[in-house]
Amino acid sequence: MMKTNGWQRPHKKGSSMKVVLKHLTKKFPNRNKKAGGDVIAVNDFDFEIPDGKLIGLLGPSGCGKSTTLNLLCGLLKPTDGQIFFGEDDVTDLPAENRGVGLVFQNYALYPHLTVRQNIIFPLQNLRGKDKLSREEMDARALEAAKLVQIDMLMDRKPSELSGGQQQRVAIARALVKMPRLLLLDEPLSNLDARLRLQTREELKRIQNETRITTVFVTHDQEEAMSISDMIVVMKDGDLQQIGRPQQVYEDPVNLFVAKFLGTPPINVFAGEVRGGGVYIGGECVLGAAGVPDGPVTVTVRPEGFVLKDGGPFGCGLKNVEVMGRDITVVCTNPCCEAPAVRAIISAENIAQITGTQVRFALKPAKVYLFDAATQARIRCELTE
Ligand code: ADP
Ligand code: MG
Repeated sequence: MMKTNGWQRPHKKGSSMKVVLKHLTKKFPNRNKKAGGDVIAVNDFDFEIPDGKLIGLLGPSGCGKSTTLNLLCGLLKPTDGQIFFGEDDVTDLPAENRGVGLVFQNYALYPHLTVRQNIIFPLQNLRGKDKLSREEMDARALEAAKLVQIDMLMDRKPSELSGGQQQRVAIARALVKMPRLLLLDEPLSNLDARLRLQTREELKRIQNETRITTVFVTHDQEEAMSISDMIVVMKDGDLQQIGRPQQVYEDPVNLFVAKFLGTPPINVFAGEVRGGGVYIGGECVLGAAGVPDGPVTVTVRPEGFVLKDGGPFGCGLKNVEVMGRDITVVCTNPCCEAPAVRAIISAENIAQITGTQVRFALKPAKVYLFDAATQARIRCELTE
């Protein structure tokens, strides 16, 4: 009889299964001959994925997320660097021996097989000591199906399932071998908005229950922020920042990270530091003692504005969007990079908004300064 909840200890050794990337690099020859040079899809990745955690690889399309995943599962060979599963160097280990479960955006189910047969499929070619009896395979498939809550659909064909159900079958098929590492490449992209929300909660639950070290790839910052224990923000093959989602949101290392995280996005202004004050346009909005004079990029989170008569920062009022508890004050400022500044304030304060101008105070913790040239964060203490 099979032990229930075998996923609680997904790998037999029982040792930790952190994943370590050591100077991992992947270059592709450039297809565009005129452009010349290699495409560096993954540039010197050097970090550790902790045992039993869910890590979100996050960045815009083309930043190297899928390449990283394919290096981890062994479908691609690195140009440089190493990969360790626990203490084992798996850099040269073939994909089929890595004990990795993979789920892609397009579920890639076998259309002529039932759900049960699809889930069992990876177990059928286990050989030697790993070989399973028919009953064991059925039991394992049922347990995986229960985990993703499709055990009532075992006799259907993929064409008889919704997109969300098909993706669950794909996840069950990845889990059935009890992988040491689960890799998910944009697994929710083909689902509609409601299903996407629901399925990502499910994924979080499954990961919590199984404790399989999981790498989740997405270009959707909200998705990554909502389910990841840790996010890895990438751009053009370069790692930008690693940390807990909230930590990265609250303490971005550069302008790219600040802009990539958050909805509505952070507001970006061309500004200047002069005599220890931060200026947007002619207005001194905050103090920044010790920061040298010069042009800076000033960013303000939407929740960083406080309506205040005679406040230091003035904007033209465009309109007000009420969304239940919060309201968004949409306004204009000539120094803003975008056509509109978006400030989120509590609905109680709506009566304060009159006329064609609004004035704000800024919350220092929600304002970041960046070097106008390098876009690196300027570390300093801001004061009201
Ligand atoms: P993402 O998954 O983040 O969208 P990818 O990892 O697929 O990005 O791609 C990263 C970069 O590597 C892109 O510039 C892409 O064009 C390039 N690339 C990916 N695979 C190949 C390949 N097989 N040959 C050449 N270039 C590739
Ligand atoms: Mg991709």
